[in-house]
Amino acid sequence: MNDQTPLDDDRLALDTVLVHGGTERSQFGETSEALFLNSGFVYQTAAAAEARFKGESPGFIYSRYANPTVAMFEARMALIEGAEAARGTASGMSAVTAALLCQLRAGDHVVAARALFGSCLYVVEDLLPRFGVQSTLVDGTDMAAWRAAVRPETKVFFLESPTNPTLEVIDLSAVCEIAHAAGARVVVDNVFATPLGQRPMAHGVDVVVYSATKHIDGAGRCLGGVILASEAFVTEELKDFYRHTGPSMSPFNAWVMLKGLETLSLRVERQCATAARLADWLAEQPGVARVLYPGRDDHPQAGVARRQMSSGGPMVSFDLAGGKDAAFRFSDALRIVRISNNLGDARSLVTHPATTTHQRLTPEARAALGISDGLLRLSVGLEAPEDLQADLGRALRAATRG
Ligand SMILES: *Cc1c(COP(=O)(O)O)cnc(C)c1O
Repeated sequence: MNDQTPLDDDRLALDTVLVHGGTERSQFGETSEALFLNSGFVYQTAAAAEARFKGESPGFIYSRYANPTVAMFEARMALIEGAEAARGTASGMSAVTAALLCQLRAGDHVVAARALFGSCLYVVEDLLPRFGVQSTLVDGTDMAAWRAAVRPETKVFFLESPTNPTLEVIDLSAVCEIAHAAGARVVVDNVFATPLGQRPMAHGVDVVVYSATKHIDGAGRCLGGVILASEAFVTEELKDFYRHTGPSMSPFNAWVMLKGLETLSLRVERQCATAARLADWLAEQPGVARVLYPGRDDHPQAGVARRQMSSGGPMVSFDLAGGKDAAFRFSDALRIVRISNNLGDARSLVTHPATTTHQRLTPEARAALGISDGLLRLSVGLEAPEDLQADLGRALRAATRG
């Protein structure tokens, strides 16, 4: 007989966890994870409902609180990340917002790295202060700046690494040391590294968030997010906030993400290898003023990247000498790489941050972040590397022709 007892997931290699972790079968013995596309649950008796609500008997109550398909995604993500607990969310932004708001109250203070995904910047800079939570933005690579920003009421440090779109790498261990000495928690948005390329909790990070929309889905289908933390954080800070404000993940999207996780390492390894190859090739091309790739020795934080990341990642940014005109001619001449602000897809995608994701910023603020008019951000997909290189080559010729 095929042993049906659950696997001892903690002892399995990551590639096995990506396929099997957290799987729970129904009485039908389905092979792949079942999609429980239901909002509510029924109880055999009124007393059973009472016990469930009192927390005296286990089980599901309502899909805003928890759902079996979402629970499988959460369990698998917790195993991958090495976190005690996880909660799935409707999007990456709901993960970021819930992870911050659930632990903050009026009078608290947040320190964040200035180089943030646009919507994260809105939450920290515009939204939190409306509710009496002050925030200070710092250069994330400058440890003295983090230290100087700390106040007695500082509760949270927030950052992403590598950052969007200039792929700065922030020293997670050093930031955690400063935060923890000040009694603050560290929340890291790990999207650009992917769960396979960087393990923030191993460096002391308290809460890790992802937009699952990106490499976890991997094919540009669904929005989703996840918050990973200790059991204590999830129970004491997040649980009630999550239940009653409703950033919950759709079971359908959780099911798609479970399928995405099965192939995550195959995809991300290939994307990182292609990204490294394209970064090296781009650095040699005329018309390319600068390549920003955490896996290259000329990256400003190459040493930190080597210590903290297992690869250079699946994203490459580069500066065209010809500024905005060259960047537009380049983008328009691409035939395989598509123009999109999204990332983490099987398709390679290019974006011009200065006129899209970061157009809201003043030219001075963009300059401070290193976002020049010639900067392009490439999310490397699964196409044949030689076809991508030829496509970029064609676009570079179009860009430099003027
Ligand atoms: C996309 C992204 C988000 C937001 O995720 P959504 O799923 O689009 O809400 C947050 N942080 C980073 C770094 C991202 O790339």
